[in-house]
Parts: sequence; C-alpha cells; structure tokens
Amino acid sequence: MKKHHWHRLTVEEAASHLQADLEAGLSATEVERRLKQHGPNALTEKKQRSPAQMFLDQFRDFMILVLLAAALIAGLIGEASDTLAIVVIVVLNAVIGFVQEYRAEKAMALLRQLAAQQALVVRDGQARQLPAAELVPGDLVLLEAGQIVPADLRLIEAARLRVAEAALTGESVAVDKHSSALEDAQLPLGDRANLAFKGTSVSTGRGRGLVTATGMATELGAIADLLQRQQEVRTPLQKRLTVFGKKLALAVLAVCAVVFAVGLLRGEEPLLMLLTAISLAVAAIPEALPAVVTISLALGARKLVGQNALIRKLPAVETLGSVTRICSDKTGTLTLNRMQLEQVYSAGRLSRPQQLDPVTQADLLRALALSNDAREDGAGQWLGDPTEIALVAAAKARGFDKTALLADWPRVAELPFDAERKCMTTIHRSPDGRLVSYTKGASDLLLERSVQLADGAPLDRARAEQVNARLSGEGLRTLALALRWWTELPEPLTAETVETGLGLLGLVGLLDPPREEAREAVRLCQSAGIEPIMITGDHPLTAVSIARRLGLLAAAETADRAGAVLSGRELATLTDEELESRVERVRVYARVAPQQKLRIVKALQRQGQFVAMTGDGVNDAPALKAADIGIAMGITGTDVSKESADMVLLDDNFATIVKAVKEGRRVYDNIRKFIQYTMTSNSGEIWTLFLAPFLGLPIPLLPIHILWINLVTDGLPGLALAAEPAEPGLMARPPRPPGESVFARGLGGHILWVGLLMGAVTLLTQAGCLRAGCDHWQTLVFTVLCLSQMGHVLAIRSQRQSLFQQGLLGNKPLVGAFVLTFVLQMATIYVPALNPVFKTEPLTAVELAIALALSSVVFVAVEIEKFIKRRRPAI
Ligand code: ATP
Repeated sequence: MKKHHWHRLTVEEAASHLQADLEAGLSATEVERRLKQHGPNALTEKKQRSPAQMFLDQFRDFMILVLLAAALIAGLIGEASDTLAIVVIVVLNAVIGFVQEYRAEKAMALLRQLAAQQALVVRDGQARQLPAAELVPGDLVLLEAGQIVPADLRLIEAARLRVAEAALTGESVAVDKHSSALEDAQLPLGDRANLAFKGTSVSTGRGRGLVTATGMATELGAIADLLQRQQEVRTPLQKRLTVFGKKLALAVLAVCAVVFAVGLLRGEEPLLMLLTAISLAVAAIPEALPAVVTISLALGARKLVGQNALIRKLPAVETLGSVTRICSDKTGTLTLNRMQLEQVYSAGRLSRPQQLDPVTQADLLRALALSNDAREDGAGQWLGDPTEIALVAAAKARGFDKTALLADWPRVAELPFDAERKCMTTIHRSPDGRLVSYTKGASDLLLERSVQLADGAPLDRARAEQVNARLSGEGLRTLALALRWWTELPEPLTAETVETGLGLLGLVGLLDPPREEAREAVRLCQSAGIEPIMITGDHPLTAVSIARRLGLLAAAETADRAGAVLSGRELATLTDEELESRVERVRVYARVAPQQKLRIVKALQRQGQFVAMTGDGVNDAPALKAADIGIAMGITGTDVSKESADMVLLDDNFATIVKAVKEGRRVYDNIRKFIQYTMTSNSGEIWTLFLAPFLGLPIPLLPIHILWINLVTDGLPGLALAAEPAEPGLMARPPRPPGESVFARGLGGHILWVGLLMGAVTLLTQAGCLRAGCDHWQTLVFTVLCLSQMGHVLAIRSQRQSLFQQGLLGNKPLVGAFVLTFVLQMATIYVPALNPVFKTEPLTAVELAIALALSSVVFVAVEIEKFIKRRRPAI
C-alpha cells in the first residue's frame, strides 16, 4: 500500500484509500488476501539461536577447550584411544547440556507466545479479540484505556482519547487525540494527533481507527533495531553464582596446580599429570551453575503456565519464594467478579431489581442502560465490565434495551470511567432536544456531589448514607446513579463542571461472591509467613465484609481499632513516615486510587517487606513496576499493566498467586539441591586428588575416571533433582530472606564436610586395597567414589525427611537416572570392550559388595545429619 500522509486525509479519504468500511470492518476473505500481501503484523525478531548453534555453544567453556587441546596433544604423543574416550565423554556431556537448554528454550518460546499481544478488531460487522499479529491494513480497530496500540492507525473516532507515546517519541506527557484532518505535511510524529502509533499506549478514553501500516512498515518498525538491543536479564542468584564461580575457579586452579606439582615431584609422568590436573579443573569448576539456574527457572515457568500463572520475567520464578506480602485487588481476584444486581434504593425505598417500575422509575432504568459501555454481540451475549453488564441486563429485563434507547437518546459526549474518579458520565440528547448527563459511580462519592433528587425533590442525605452503609456492610458493591439536565453542552467538558450539582436517581447494590478457593489460599499464605493484603477501589464496609469472609481480617470490630483498615482518603492525609508506621498493621485498603498503590508498595518495602502486587489498569503500572513481583490480570488486565508485570494471572485468581509462590519455593529448593549435589561431588573429587599424595598414595584416579564421574554419572541424577516434588511443610516455613546466600542454612558446611568424608572413604579404599595387595585397586576406588555420590543424591532429596519417610519412588526421573547411572558404571567395569578404555578390570562379587558397603557410608552420614536437623525446630 502506497505511503500516504495519513494525517492530512479526512476520515472518508483515508477509508477510501484503504478500501475499508468504517462500520463493518473488512471481510474475512479480504483479510486473508491482505495478510498474504503484507505479512503478519509483527516486528522481525532478533535471530533465535539454531539448535546447531546451541549445541556448539556447549563447548564454549574455556576449560573444556583447554581439556580438548591437552587430550589432543596427549593423543598425538601417546595413546589415541585415551583422546577418543575423553572426546566422547565431553560430547556426551554437551548432549546432556544441549537437551536441557533446548527444553528450556522451548519453554521460553511458549511463554513468549502466550504473552503475545491481543487487539480488538471489527470484521464482518463483529467485534472480536484477535492476536495483534493478525491485523492487516484497512482493519477497523477499537481502542480502550490501557491498551497498547496494535498497529499504526488513522483515528476515525476519539472520545477523550489520550495516548502515551514515550515508547516512540520519548515525550512523557500523553497526547490528546482527535479524528479531524491536519494541514501541515511536515508535522513531527508527536503532533500528528489524528494518528495512533503501534507500541504506544492508551492512557484514557476510547477510540476507533483504521490500520494504515502493520509490522515493520509501522513507525515502530522503523526503529525496531533499537529495541532489539535488550540486555539479557540475570536473576539475583545467577549474578551471585557468577561472582562466586569466578572466585572458586581461582581456588580450584590453585589446587590443580598443587596436584600437578606434587605429582611431578613424586615422579609421575608429566603429560598424565597435566591431563589429570586439567580434568580435575574441568570437573570441579562449576561453570554450568548459572545455566542450570536458567534452565530450572524456565522449566518452573513452563510448569506454572499449566497452573495459570504466566511468567513474563524469568527472575520472578526465583524471587517468588521470598514474597512476604501479597497485595491483591478485590474484585475478580479475591471475588468472582460475577456481578449480580441485588438491591435498588430509589424513591425512598429499597427494592429488588425485578420490582422496578418502568413508568415511575423510567429515569433510573434509562440511566442504568445508557450510562454504560457494555455492548451486546450478535448472539445476545453481553461484552464488557461485569458490573456494567449486570446493570444493563437488569434494565433490559424491565424493558429498557440499551440499543433501542440509544436511537432516541443518542450519546453526544462522555467522560469515560477512570479508577481515580471512580465514576463515569455519558451525555445524551433527549427526544425533546435538551441534554441530560447520567453519572454513575462510587456511591459515597456521588452522594457528596448530589444536591437533590433527580426529580428536584430534596435529598434525605442521612437516610441515603444509612442505606449505603447497610448495603456495603452486607458485602455488596454499591454504586449511585445521578443525572443533570443541560440546555447546551457544558464547557469545558470536564469532571469538575459536569459531575457536580447532581440529582440523585438511586443506589444499587451488586453481589460479588468471594472465590471459594481464595479462603484456603489466604490460610496457606498465613501459614507460610506471608500476609495477604486487600487493596480495593470499593467501599470500606464492602471491603471489610469480604475480607472477613475470606479470613483476611480476624474480627472486624477489633481489627478496626487496631488500624487494620485504611481508606484512600485517610491515606492521602498521611505523610510517608506516618504511613510507614501504620503499614505493617493494615490488612484492607479501601476506596484507594491506583496511584496510592505505589505509596503502599514503597512503604512496605521500606519496612523490609518483599512485596507482590496485583493490578489491572493503566494507572496500576507504576506500582506493578515498583513491586518486587508485579502481577497483572490475564482476563481483565490492560496491555499496559501486563507489560509492566513480572507475572500474569491467566485466571485472575488470587489462589494462583499462592500456587506460584509455592512453585517458586520448590524451584529454589531444587536449585539448592542441585548445587548441594554437584558441589559436594566436586569437593569429594578435589579432596581425594589433593590429599592422596600427602598421605603417600599414588594418584587415585585417571583423567578419564574424573571426567566420567563428573560429566556423565554426576550429570543425570543432578538434573533429575529438578523434578523433586515440593517438600512437605514447604508452605509452613517463613519466606526466604531475599538477600540470603544460596549456601546459607548449612549448605556451605555440608559441601565441605560431606566432600571430605567422600574423599576419606575413597582414600581409605585405596590405602586398604594397596595394603591388601589388591590388583585392581583403581577400579575399586573409581567405583566407590561414583557410588558414594549416588548414595548422596538419594540422601539429599529432602532437606529434613529421611529417604524412607519420603518413599523411594517419589521422584521417578531420579529413579530412572539412578538406575541408568548405576548400569553405566557397572558397564565400565564388566563390559570387556570398555575395560581398556576406562583402564578398569572386573571386580569379584566380594569386591563389589565391599564397594557397595563403603559407598553407603556417605548416605548413612547424611541421613544422620537430617535426623539431627529433624530434632531441632524448623528454620
Ligand atoms: P478492585 O477491588 O480490584 O480494586 P474495583 O472494581 O473496586 O476493584 P475500580 O475498578 O478501581 O476498583 O473501581 C473503583 C470504584 O469505582 C468501584 O468501587 C465502583 O464504586 C466504581 N466503579 C467501578 N466500575 C464502574 C463503572 N463501570 N461505572 C461506574 N463506576 C464504577
């Protein structure tokens, strides 16, 4: 499609250039044709790594390259079979690494795909939600507050539409949009107020526009290269492990140098000693730890999707385990958001909606239908906000159909709903030519703005407030409806001029039952040392009633006195210091404006809390960004809130947050177990090789043994630890301090002492065999060290429970890895063809039994360690 100065065209000209229909949108066949012509509406992404590239990357580790070079030299000088064996082991190791990384990559691709942007499009006369990638030029797109503009658009309607274009122009103030043609051909992008650009976000209002460009043809596409240079995010744990790994590498290299030097002094062959030292370095430097963290997190994130939590930023999986406060919205998250109109108060009495009289209460019924953005699709289904649907449906049941009414009472202007004002107004021309504004919103706020009843009679304010308190106290969401007549359109059209001096039509009370599973989730949080906190735009009494039913507030009367409930209005009067002194006690924030959420997050964080915060609107974005874990709603959330969040709840459900926290804790536990296993194994190998010469023993293991144990037999059970199920009591312990070292709570000590024990058992085997004159002492040493590590992996599956309490079959992948590793180890001993490769000899039955007995020492010792832990209280 030719490049036009779209902003200079009128709406009709733009439509005719685009061959688009301003009401019905494009037809399905036309869309298909255009999609072929223009391609998907997506920015071309940075090239993903191909599987081959990913495999080759496994060899990028410096020490592996040194090892391969040394093996090659050794092969050229000495035996080629040794070199070949080393290469095979290194490749096997790379295959294990590759498979893991590939799975993680696939998991991440799935997450990206699920997080893809959606757009609201009219096609064939029907509005529908579609992936934004399917848009084509000429499509008719609907815009609402909170959306990210899905393509470049020529606006054809703009109702108080303001768009934040910082992503494109860097300008932080949102731009007011309109649909009239502009003159100047050279206007900068930021001034082309009748266009909306892909990637910018709608701050307020509503609009419709025709797609003028998609994908790389958009203004955003033109600068897409700039956006590709995103830094790879590293989690706190990865950062710490990288720093730690570097220090450890130096220490290991020093130990290897000593092993090499002492070996030479003892008269060992230099080339063999060199290969031994390098193999030990490869084995003991935990190069792969940060990568393992990524893989575990990615697989954890993959699992979480199945539980309706979509992770947008990988570090969130890790930090979830540290959450101490979950600040949650009420409507839809703690409750079902299945609104039902229960009570109506008008003309001085309370009634059920079915009792509303179409004649005497026509004004109220009309307001319910008209001050409403819910729309009916072709199939008689209502689309929109559940609160509004409840109202518009109740009006229709009494004969006030919105669509029919609009023909006689057209909407001429509006002040769209925003969570700050907590109300909305629509202005209609009445059949007699006058104008009427209908305002609908938070009951207490509208009561303050009402000066009389709608028919001009005096307003019994005390009675209305009493009814409001009664309905709210029953947990109902209460809204008020009011009207005001005008002879001409109020100027300026702002909340201050329009939403004041109102005539009250009535109050309505809507029932929104708490979610069944939220109660149990609240209890689980509390046992896990996490306090759930409700933050709502609703009335304090409604909020308290629901909070009490969920167990979030113990007893409302005492809770009130203890300062457990804080209203937005009170909060506004508090200084930051005052808020900080109260924030620890508050469990319910009511009638809060979205901006105040940011203050709450910051106050909690200053008190040392690790905060998860939910949000759905545009104005929630700053709080979501500031929170340690920002959580957006998948169903009702705006694009802007999702973009700012670390996690999206696909089912909008509070219980899902708690599940995610649990999964986060499990993943972190298992990463720790992996570290515990591999580092203890490494420590065992280092102790063995380092101490042997000082005890007057020959080098206990050949390079091939070290590599085999470390890269193959260690690898499989270690990875299978990631599948370890959550430990019992996982949600009965307090959250992990965010800054806590991964080696805290005894892990560092464990690695050292169990490693030393492993080394001692191995060296004892060696010394005993040598003294007894056993020929194949090296095979025995090799077997004992390998099997000791296998015993260790079984013992550390749980931090506290014994293996027998836990059951042997709880982690099937580990059982598989264990059996496979055992079989492989036996193969190196008993398969004749492998004997020359591994320099092993078959063990006799007695020798094998001795090896098994000796290698169970480590298992028994760690079980005793856990037994002692169990007798102490949990930490
Ligand atoms: P949460 O508990 O998740 O904060 P909420 O729906 O109470 O949800 P908002 O959406 O910010 O929070 O609404 C704030 C208040 O505005 C509501 O309590 C209600 O009184 C009023 N309100 C909500 N939706 C509408 C609407 N569509 N029209 C008019 N008023 C509304």
